[in-house]
Amino acid sequence: MRNQLAKIFTVRVLAVALGLGILYPSLAIADPTPEGFTEFLQTVWPDAKAQGISRKTFDAATVGLKPDFKIPDLVLSSRPKVDNTGQAEFTKTAADYISKPYIEKMAAQGRVFFKQHQKALQSIEAVSGVDPYILVAIWGRETAYGSYNLPHDSIRVLATLAYAGRRKEMFRQEFLAALKMLEVGVPRSDMKSSWAGAVGLTQFMPTEFFKHAADGDGDGKIDIWRSIPDALASAARQLQGKGWVRGQGWGYEVRLGPKADCAFEGPPDERPIAQWVDLGFQRANDKPFTEAQLNKPAYLMMPAGGYGPAFLVPENFKVIRLYNTSDLYALFVGHLSDRIRGGGDFTTPWASFQQPRTRTVHDLQARLQALGYPMDKIDGKIGSNTRKQIGLYQRANGLKVDCWPSDAVLAHANANAQR
Ligand code: CA
Repeated sequence: MRNQLAKIFTVRVLAVALGLGILYPSLAIADPTPEGFTEFLQTVWPDAKAQGISRKTFDAATVGLKPDFKIPDLVLSSRPKVDNTGQAEFTKTAADYISKPYIEKMAAQGRVFFKQHQKALQSIEAVSGVDPYILVAIWGRETAYGSYNLPHDSIRVLATLAYAGRRKEMFRQEFLAALKMLEVGVPRSDMKSSWAGAVGLTQFMPTEFFKHAADGDGDGKIDIWRSIPDALASAARQLQGKGWVRGQGWGYEVRLGPKADCAFEGPPDERPIAQWVDLGFQRANDKPFTEAQLNKPAYLMMPAGGYGPAFLVPENFKVIRLYNTSDLYALFVGHLSDRIRGGGDFTTPWASFQQPRTRTVHDLQARLQALGYPMDKIDGKIGSNTRKQIGLYQRANGLKVDCWPSDAVLAHANANAQR
């Protein structure tokens, strides 16, 4: 509703502006500077104070703090507007991201850790209902079971992202929460992070820490850095809070029926699994769906379009995506959990291909949008809606339906637009 109103409002404002013949000058925004960063930090103090952060903590964290303008997701004139460089989820092909040798290595390690922490995992599952194999897989995905050397200081990167990032307001809240973590006694040395500021074995954003961090080993303290049960119990609470459905899997690899193509992908075409079966879908392992599964809604997810395996994914897939908004991320976690449990490789292999250029994807999104195919975002990322709209365009134009961006589809759409 709010979006609709915003849209109507924008259209009206634009119409008025055009009607009056107002031309917007291209606004030249000054690049962020170290001096501007220092000034920015002082503007955060009133909010920090209001959240109970002491001047002593604030000064210790911020005096002499330097910005890090090398991290991704910043608005800098030297950076292209479409910039996915920081996200492997969008720059690697599915076959590279879910690399088979890597998954096998991670699964073997995961099985060892699962055994080691079985007792804690059982009680976490009893309390939260979250599949313990998924928890171990998240730990594996996020920090390779704690073996990653996290290269950044959370305070520094969050402050930089709050000052010069593309999502300033969100990171300002994370920066404040990170300061609060220092206030409640988390040592600065534990605030090592990825470029986006997440900390601990399962990579918690600071606001999530205050919502969901839990004491999994019962020693009365919360330590998501050194206690594996604490980190996994915290991740479980997080997934539970995001709507994890007890007893449900993350997804099923399937074969498409003759009446369906990849343009059925995505949440808008979600339907009970029974209806997918009516369309001819079968599980790739040839096992029948159970009665309970048939009643559950699921949507089709094909991260490589027509060039790799297809999955029907129920609610829990969306829950994992909330941990990190990427189909490949959620698929990695789901698949790794299956492999730790003892399952095998995908039935359909990933075809080998080059990842399309971000520019191609971006231009194709913009062109399809102009031709009336609704895009959520023109961002150069190959999400499920982008794949779906490409598939619908191909279907409508008698092209081979592979739901995958390419220079050929872009050229076709460009020619179509000029007609
Ligand atoms: Ca503990």
